[in-house]
Amino acid sequence: MEAVNTAVAEDVVAEKESDDGPGTPTLGELLLAVEELWPESLAENWDEVGLVAGRPEAPVGKVMLAVDPTLETIEEAIAWGAQLLVTHHPLLLKGVNSVAATTAKGLAVHRLIESGTALLTVHTNGDSAVGGVSDVLADAFGLDNVVPLTPASQGLPEEGIGRVGELPELMTLGDFAARVFEVLPAVAGGVRVSGERDALIRRVAVCGGAGDSLFDAVRASHADVYVTADLRHHPASEARESAVNGRPYLIDVSHFASEWLWLPAAAEALGNVLSDQGYDVEIRVAGTNSDPWDFILTPG
Ligand SMILES: [Zn+2]
Repeated sequence: MEAVNTAVAEDVVAEKESDDGPGTPTLGELLLAVEELWPESLAENWDEVGLVAGRPEAPVGKVMLAVDPTLETIEEAIAWGAQLLVTHHPLLLKGVNSVAATTAKGLAVHRLIESGTALLTVHTNGDSAVGGVSDVLADAFGLDNVVPLTPASQGLPEEGIGRVGELPELMTLGDFAARVFEVLPAVAGGVRVSGERDALIRRVAVCGGAGDSLFDAVRASHADVYVTADLRHHPASEARESAVNGRPYLIDVSHFASEWLWLPAAAEALGNVLSDQGYDVEIRVAGTNSDPWDFILTPG
């Protein structure tokens, strides 16, 4: 697989403001900055977020951000010398009885601990937060007046899963899909669209990652089009059957790509918080493409 084009993901360096600042933070100190940006209280009940591996007293001078804690990504973090890898997806979402290195997840745990690399999950708390995954998508697609599709049960009114907002002017579905394709990192699966290419749209709902559980909220939002990932046949088909005047049209994107877009913004936000606190930390977005698909065949 080709590496993600990280041209937009320049390294972020949180430079300390003066020589007598606190310098390199410990992992525990860095986690306080993470909590400020993406509070664990915003995570969904079923989710598992927070520290997966690592000693709170260990110093952290280099942080890598990635979508998935795959072995390839972990090796990239180790090779760069990161003391902390922050991933969107949890390594251990379900309970385990063994972390023996005979399984991929067990080997991942071994490589992290052997190399002294901590692992932190920022998952649905990173989706829900202001500046989170869907906020970044909405911004990249050029939406205004953005509000959550499903407001967070605990938190501010602008926090929650998914976002809905408006384009500054009417656009054809085809042109909007081209914009979606352009702003997301290039992956083998491309972008799939359901709807008429020339239909005019303005109100757009987005949800980074798998979003086919949100159709009720999408319909209630009166969105003309819904952009999300992992749209399965039945929810997508039923949504099209019950569409009103063809709406909402659907744009199905790569799960990985839809969440990758958040990483440069998250790196910058974390860098800003740490540098405001006087810490000196280098932050980088991983170049590994962990989208599982490699090629696609289409008719014509
Ligand atoms: Zn996801």
